[in-house]
Amino acid sequence: REAEAWQARFDPAQTRDGHRVEVAANLGNTAHAADAVERGAEGIGLLRTEFLFMAHAREPDLATQIEEYREALDALEGRPLVARTLDVGGDKPLPYWPVPKEDNPFLGLRGIRLSLTRPEVLETQLRALLMAAAPATSEAADKPRPLRIMLPMVKDVGEFRAARAIFARLLDEIPAAERATDMQLGVMIEVPSAALLAPALAAEVDFFSVGTNDLTQYTLAIDRDHPELSAHADGLHPAVLRLIEMTVAAAHAHGKWVGVCGELASDTLAVPVLVGLGVDELSVSARQVPLVKARLREFDLAEARAQAQLALAQATSEAVRDALEVR
Ligand code: PEP
Ligand code: MG
Repeated sequence: REAEAWQARFDPAQTRDGHRVEVAANLGNTAHAADAVERGAEGIGLLRTEFLFMAHAREPDLATQIEEYREALDALEGRPLVARTLDVGGDKPLPYWPVPKEDNPFLGLRGIRLSLTRPEVLETQLRALLMAAAPATSEAADKPRPLRIMLPMVKDVGEFRAARAIFARLLDEIPAAERATDMQLGVMIEVPSAALLAPALAAEVDFFSVGTNDLTQYTLAIDRDHPELSAHADGLHPAVLRLIEMTVAAAHAHGKWVGVCGELASDTLAVPVLVGLGVDELSVSARQVPLVKARLREFDLAEARAQAQLALAQATSEAVRDALEVR
């Protein structure tokens, strides 16, 4: 089965009846982008840029960042890059960016909240991303370099607007020929308030990407790294699925797309449920790309919708898994 999936890895990702769902790769290192493409990824759906920052002893300057982002975009050859802005904080500290000790780092200064306290760092990163996505050479000028930037841990539209103001200023400042032309600015949905307020967010963002790891942690109030409890932090919990359903409904009502970039996107049972909920893109570890594509080819959209309804109707994650296993 694995050999078959590998053989078909470059075939477009779609259900048996031809419903397209983009399958992209999650990456922490731009040097691995070429490998992801070789494994059949249709783009990078989550570039965890904090690893790039962690790999340096000091904050990487504009030129260093441009070079690294460019490496990913070059390897992608026109496929989209979804780059997440720096997502560090109490639990993922940067040695050169000390954060005061917190009792609850997962509820503390992290993600976009932290970035907005250092707007100059966010500004440099956004500038680097925009400039890296400019057509690199004249011979490459006809190759698009689609860039999607997403903000982590956004809780409501206020944080999005604050970041967008910086983004908009940069678009004015950087000459059009020196920056991306095909770009979008979106948010991750990983805080329950963002899912509950998705209709308000959807009116302003270009896209959503659901971070099911954190969304599950915050919805179920289970530390995702807890040694005893984390096994119960299951993204197939009906409460999490309802939040995803609300997110997709809000996005589609505004003509926006929704990805899922948490672990749930590569769960064999979850793939049809997510597709049935209307998710447009699944971003998984590069190694899983051929398998997720193969999984998509096993069902049709009507079956996926039935699976989603079945899952939503359950009361616990165990019941969801039991109900889905039966088929
Ligand atoms: C998530 O929270 O689901 C996610 C994709 O981000 P990370 O795992 O990096 O927190
Ligand atoms: Mg997260």
